[in-house]
Amino acid sequence: MFGQRVTLFRLLGLEVRANTSWVLLAVLVFWSLATGLLPHQLPGLGHVSYWLLALVGTIGVFFSLLFHEFAHALVARSHGMRIEGITLFLFGGVAEMTEEPPDPRTELRVAAAGPIASGVLFVSFWVLAGLVAALTPAEPLVALLGYLALINLILALFNLFPGFPLDGGRILRAWLWQRHGNLLRATRTASRSGQGFGMALVVLGFWALISVGALGGLWWILIGIFVIGIARAAYDQTAARNAFEGTPIGRFMTHRPVTVEPAMSLGDFVEDVAYVHHYSVFPVVEGGRLIGLIRTRDVRQVPREAWPNTPLRSIMQAPAPEQLAERQDDADQVLQRMQRSQSGQVIVVEDQQPIGVVTLRDMLEHLAVRQELGADR
Ligand SMILES: [Zn+2]
Repeated sequence: MFGQRVTLFRLLGLEVRANTSWVLLAVLVFWSLATGLLPHQLPGLGHVSYWLLALVGTIGVFFSLLFHEFAHALVARSHGMRIEGITLFLFGGVAEMTEEPPDPRTELRVAAAGPIASGVLFVSFWVLAGLVAALTPAEPLVALLGYLALINLILALFNLFPGFPLDGGRILRAWLWQRHGNLLRATRTASRSGQGFGMALVVLGFWALISVGALGGLWWILIGIFVIGIARAAYDQTAARNAFEGTPIGRFMTHRPVTVEPAMSLGDFVEDVAYVHHYSVFPVVEGGRLIGLIRTRDVRQVPREAWPNTPLRSIMQAPAPEQLAERQDDADQVLQRMQRSQSGQVIVVEDQQPIGVVTLRDMLEHLAVRQELGADR
């Protein structure tokens, strides 16, 4: 989701970045202002005036989104949570927290900060628009301030819907978590509500698209799909945390991993190892000690004719820290590392010897079994 992004600036110790998809949102806001709303509200101005006003309006929207996310981020930081920064993307902004709130009270405060901030901006822009209208005949300024007031009101209300990943969903989760003391159950409720909300957006979007022919419907469909995806992921993530946190990774490992020697040829490796044991990474061992890793897909870099005469040593790589674990490491931490590095597999090492292997697939299967057994209810 945050693939290509650029850092825009730093403010109050937080890095503000923009995902390339944000450009599309900026263009959309600018375009709808310059060609739709402004000509409608202020007829008779020249093209250049509409463009300049639309530019100011777009900057205002940018400021409003950042104000909302900064509120989340600063409250989170004041509660000791680690914040990566703020990223703007296609559907607005997100304060990237690297950890979950430690308790319901903190979650409630962090979640409520955003809509409160947007509410404050709404009132400010609204009062300002009234003042300007009373004091000067500056119609364009009044129209812009009114527009920004409306945007902030929508931001506050939309985000208050009680479904994940919206702020209201976090508030609901905090409340249920506080009431029943069960984070997983609270997350499931907020996640289902969020998925329902996402589906409603998709249905509304299709309805708008078909019955009114409104292209804006496409926008609602996209947001709906996005909300459904995040809502589901939020539950999966909490379920995973619940299952793995505090459990050593050694419990999930397959003992005595398949190892290879550095002198083995690529040809033998493919025939006797890769085709037989379906792992993506194999530990390379010399004298019982781990000296490197061989990834199955790296074999492709060598032309097929050369496989019989190329030793594994020539394409093996030094193990990166995220590809290794120790028996006692927290399974939740290891799972997160695996997902971040996208390797899907870790080698468990003891005294420099590979003693086991854990794959993402094994861990997900463990989760599925837990769900079948109703362990999380
Ligand atoms: Zn928010």
